[in-house]
Amino acid sequence: MSDTAIRPLVAGNWKMNGTTAALREPRLLGAMLKGVKLKCDVLVCPPATIIRRAKAVMKGGKIKVGGQDCHAAASGAHTGDISAEMLKDAGAAMVIVGHSERRTNHKETDAEVAAKAKAAHRAGLVAIICIGETLEERKGGKTLDVLTSQLKGSIPEGANSGNTVIAYEPVWAIGTGLTASTAEVAEAHTHIRKEIGKIMGAEGAKTRILYGGSVKPSNAAELMGAANVNGALVGGASLKAADFIGIIKTYM
Ligand code: PEP
Repeated sequence: MSDTAIRPLVAGNWKMNGTTAALREPRLLGAMLKGVKLKCDVLVCPPATIIRRAKAVMKGGKIKVGGQDCHAAASGAHTGDISAEMLKDAGAAMVIVGHSERRTNHKETDAEVAAKAKAAHRAGLVAIICIGETLEERKGGKTLDVLTSQLKGSIPEGANSGNTVIAYEPVWAIGTGLTASTAEVAEAHTHIRKEIGKIMGAEGAKTRILYGGSVKPSNAAELMGAANVNGALVGGASLKAADFIGIIKTYM
């Protein structure tokens, strides 16, 4: 399957930002997209506390809602955690797992990320599995090896192009204003495409690979044009509808 046959996804990760008042942004975004024939899927991942309301705000619209993390278990004694089933119940269609902020702040391992992705599949959610190298690893020439190892460890059995999305996010580019060059993005994404083919078989060729790391309206078209890039995972620039639409426009 050629790259152009894959429907791109533009996903917004709000991180720990947004209370009820912030719902004006997806409402605005929904209005901006009314009547527009989109050539990509659009996802907003707000904090879990407003997923249900975000879904209601965008009811009938084109924007899907997602979670930012989930626990591997369906229920149990895990104070403060949220299961994939709970996200699904709240209206989520997808969930981000293995974001570098979780891997760093919560010391999440590849095995834990794989268990979370498996939980997402169990609950009927698409798992957006994040991988990416640190600056130290890039400078040490280890980028491709790190990506291979994270993919092997983080993709669970049963992953396919319908239930899994890979997000390549160089850790040094997240929230820093720095972006990988198009050559670096193309190299990483082409490597990921090859590696997921080994793990997922024929499904690997159909699986979406997103780029994330300081994507904004001014650099989106160039980054999205790199080989094997099937959309974006956007942090800061997804918080304001006016910025997010500037990235989505790449696929209008
Ligand atoms: C992210 O949080 O996944 C991200 C890519 O953030 P930013 O776009 O702000 O770099």
